[in-house]
Order: sequence, then C-alpha cells, then structure tokens
Amino acid sequence: MRIDIISVLPELLHSPLNWSIIKRARDKGLVEINIHNLHDYATDRYRSVDDYAFGGGAGMVMMIEPVFRVIEELKKEREYDDIIYTSPDGEKLTQKKANALSLKKNIIILAGHYKGVDQRIRDYLVTSEISIGDYVLSGGELPAAVIVDAVVRLIPGVLGDEQSALSDSFQDDLLAPPVYTRPAEFMGWKVPDVLLSGHSANIEKWRHEQSVERTGKLRPGLLESEEE
Ligand code: SAM
Repeated sequence: MRIDIISVLPELLHSPLNWSIIKRARDKGLVEINIHNLHDYATDRYRSVDDYAFGGGAGMVMMIEPVFRVIEELKKEREYDDIIYTSPDGEKLTQKKANALSLKKNIIILAGHYKGVDQRIRDYLVTSEISIGDYVLSGGELPAAVIVDAVVRLIPGVLGDEQSALSDSFQDDLLAPPVYTRPAEFMGWKVPDVLLSGHSANIEKWRHEQSVERTGKLRPGLLESEEE
C-alpha cells in the first residue's frame, strides 16, 4: 500500500510514523508513506499556502492552487483509490472504515489547517472526508497519523500472529477481553485461575464471555449492531 500525506507542517508527522509497528511495516516494504510539504507547491516566493477568507471573518484558509498542484503531480504518477480530507465534519473513523482502507492500493490524505481548506478543494479534488471524533484539533496532521496507524496495522503481514488484529476491540463488534501478565499475584491481586490453567478451550471460552460482558456493560449498542 502507498500513502501520500499532504501537510503544511510535515514535522508533526515524522515521529508518529517512524516508530514501532508502522516503522516495521515501512521497513518490510508493506507500506510506503510519503509526506509532502504543501509549501513546496506554493505559487509565490513566500511559499504561501493560506490567505484571508472571502467575506471576512477570523482565520486563514488553505488555498486551492498548491493543493491542486501537489495532487495533480501525484496523480500523474499513479491512480489513487481515495483522496481523503481530514475534517471534524467528515465520516467518523471506525474499525470498519480502517479495514476498508487497508485494502486500498494508493491513497492520499490531505491534512487541513487554519480555518480549513477552500471549499472547492472539498467539492472538486477530495473523494472522501474522515473525522477522528467530535472535537476540533488545530490541524489535520494528528488525525492523519491516527488514520495511518489504524489502517497500517491491518495490512496483512504487518502484525505477527501473536499480535493479531482479529482479537482487538471492534473487529467483531465486541470489545477485547482483559489481559494479564506476570506476576500471577501482586499485593494479593490475582490473575483469574483459568488463564493459568493451560486449558486452551476454557481460556478461549472465558475470553469470549469476558468480551461479551464488557461490551454489554460499556458499549451495549455494539451487541445490537446499532453502532457502526
Ligand atoms: N473550522 C473548522 C471546523 O470548525 O470544522 C475546523 C478547522 S481545524 C482548526 C483545522 C484542521 O484540522 C481542519 O481543517 C482539519 O483538517 C483538522 N481537524 C481538526 N479536527 C479534526 C477532527 N476531529 N478530525 C479530523 N480532522 C480534524
């Protein structure tokens, strides 16, 4: 999979995308991530990428020309399955959405900034919009990193069997069961006996029951398939 991220502040993305599972996926060649500095596509010598809003009001707006130029340049090289704009009013990122994106070959993520982007970018250049939650962040870089992290760990081969995403929360409309590690007892607080029993069928049964119980308690809507 190839992911191109367009940003006015690429520095914000380097660290989150260069560690742990994502770094290993990049090193193994399972994902190629390219970060493009929008300032490199500005049309003036000040490398401007924002301007005042027509009609007045507080806040600058990301201009269409630099965004158009970088997207056109990328599209000349390959076809893209999705050109995603990160936006608080976009479709909410879910595990289901992350699963769907992990099957794509080439995607672009446009991180917004300032008051947002010129509406024509949304109308004519992007193909979908994703929100990471009902709150407003200063820029789309952290949302872009969240999307990439959620998606990359689902690409086949990225996680080993022992870390399999299939047992994670939301993968089957259930929350994950609790997990424990050594010591088996700490300050009198004990690990459930079944986990120490070595009886794999009983352990699996216990884990499933715990998942159902936690989901019923914390997110009952998932059990009734009311939530996405
Ligand atoms: N004026 C915009 C609004 O009220 O919807 C918010 C602009 S915000 C300060 C700047 C940029 O951060 C947005 O254009 C978007 O790219 C990104 N952003 C902020 N919150 C986000 C969220 N919850 N999900 C995805 N992107 C977000």
